[in-house]
Amino acid sequence: MTDAGFELVGVSKQFVLRRQPLVAVDRFDYRAPIGTLTALVGPSGCGKSTILRILAGLDEPSSGTVLVHGLAPAEARDRHEIGVAFQDPALLPWRNVRDNVRFALQVTGVDAPTSAVDNLIALVGLTGFETARPRQLSGGMRQRVAIARALVTSPSVLLLDEPFGALDAMTRTRMNMELQRIWMERVTTTLLVTHSIDEAVLLADEVVVMAPRPSRVVARVKIDLPRPRTAEMTRSAAFHDLADIVSESLVAGDEL
Ligand code: ADP
Ligand code: MG
Repeated sequence: MTDAGFELVGVSKQFVLRRQPLVAVDRFDYRAPIGTLTALVGPSGCGKSTILRILAGLDEPSSGTVLVHGLAPAEARDRHEIGVAFQDPALLPWRNVRDNVRFALQVTGVDAPTSAVDNLIALVGLTGFETARPRQLSGGMRQRVAIARALVTSPSVLLLDEPFGALDAMTRTRMNMELQRIWMERVTTTLLVTHSIDEAVLLADEVVVMAPRPSRVVARVKIDLPRPRTAEMTRSAAFHDLADIVSESLVAGDEL
């Protein structure tokens, strides 16, 4: 059990909505080996963000067990083993890039050496923008800052909730390749929630396809394409076959 990057066993989450119980996640099982990238895809409302929030220690499951790098999520979070980024990069507008990245550490009373922060800024391709303010950056650049910030504590597990959802298609493809590079350099177990089938197949070791009402897993698709994955691969027959399997599972889940 300890060699999992993260593991969920029988995880359920219920909310109460207008006095009615709502099952957001129902007996979800998943085990991510250390250093793998898992993509979670499915229509809105199937429980993706709830699963991510539970892993991040931001929400408690109603039942089931969750381990992140062998620890309870809250403990893993306290030990800075978890990095999180959401669709909205939520940067502090009055802080420059360097101070936004370093902020995640500072709130815990630790400060990162500027050289370490600048290495991360280089890793996400923003060298030269260390003292820029968020409003001076494009959407893609802001999202890179959010990813650098998620990595500043050197987490073992990186949780990304539709991080590129708001970007245009070209920037998104570029960010996909960047994310792969960062992930390969850092060997961080990663969970990527995404609406994009291509993004999931391009980046993941395994794609987990979910369906809503009731929330469930409809398919687990292993992606055995060689690494590093390239933009050219998205035009190969093997890529299309995998994307078709994911897309057919999504349709099947919708029809049930
Ligand atoms: P996804 O990220 O796949 O779109 P979510 O995990 O956000 O799905 O939501 C799953 C279900 O749980 C949805 O029906 C949503 O309305 C419900 N839900 C999520 N968070 C809450 C909450 N805090 N209170 C009540 N219902 C919630
Ligand atoms: Mg969501």
